[in-house]
Amino acid sequence: MTNNATSSSTILIVEDEEKLALLLSDYLQNSGFQTHCIHEGVSVATWVKANKPSLILLDLMLPGKDGMDVCKDIRAFSNTPIIMVTARVEEIDRLLGLELGADDYICKPFSPREVVARVKAVLRRTGATPSSTDPMITLDEARYQATANNQPLNLTAVEFQLLNILVTDPGRIYSREQLMDHIYNDHRIVNDRTIDSHIKKLRKRIGEVIPNTTIIHSVYGVGYKYEPEI
Ligand code: CA
Repeated sequence: MTNNATSSSTILIVEDEEKLALLLSDYLQNSGFQTHCIHEGVSVATWVKANKPSLILLDLMLPGKDGMDVCKDIRAFSNTPIIMVTARVEEIDRLLGLELGADDYICKPFSPREVVARVKAVLRRTGATPSSTDPMITLDEARYQATANNQPLNLTAVEFQLLNILVTDPGRIYSREQLMDHIYNDHRIVNDRTIDSHIKKLRKRIGEVIPNTTIIHSVYGVGYKYEPEI
C-alpha cells in the first residue's frame, strides 16, 4: 500500500455538456488534480458519499435533478466544498439568497484557467488542500521505501516506521513511549534516547533531500509531531 501524505485531490465535475466537462477535466488534470465527471444530477449524492471528492464543480441546470437540489442533498451529509456553475450572472444573487451552502459561484462562459484558479482558491480557503510548497512525502509500506519530493530517502527500517507513524496524522503529537510501542512490538527495553537518536537521523536524511525545512518537530517535554511548514 502506498501512503501518500499529500495525495492529489479529486475534483468531481457535474456538467451535462460533455465537451465542457471534458475540457474542465483536462485543465484540472494538467494542474495535478484527479477528476471524475457526472453528466446528470440524480446519481451525484450517491457518488459523493461513496467517493468523497475534495471539491465539486456543480452546474445549475442539469437533467434529472437540478444543481440546487443536488447541493441541498450533499449538504445534508457533507461539507465538501462546492462551486456552483451557472449560465446566468443574475442567477447568482438568487442562489446566494437561498443560502444553499455553496462555497463559490462561477458564471458561464468562463475560461478553464479561471475555474482552475477558483478551485485552488476554494481548496486553500476551506483547508482541504495543503499549500503547494509542502514537501511531498510518500511511503511504500510493502517495500519500506520512502521518498520526499520524489527523491528516495534511504531510511533504516526503524526510521521508516517512525516516519510512517508520524505522517499518518499530521499535527498529532506522539510521545516517545507511543513511538516506541509502535516500533518495538516485542516490548524490549529501550530508553527515550533511542527514539531521539532515530529521529535525529531521520531528520538528517530528510534534510539531505529537502534542506532548510522542518518536517518533524520536537514538542518540548512531550514528544514529536509531523507538520510540514507552510
Ligand atoms: Ca447545464
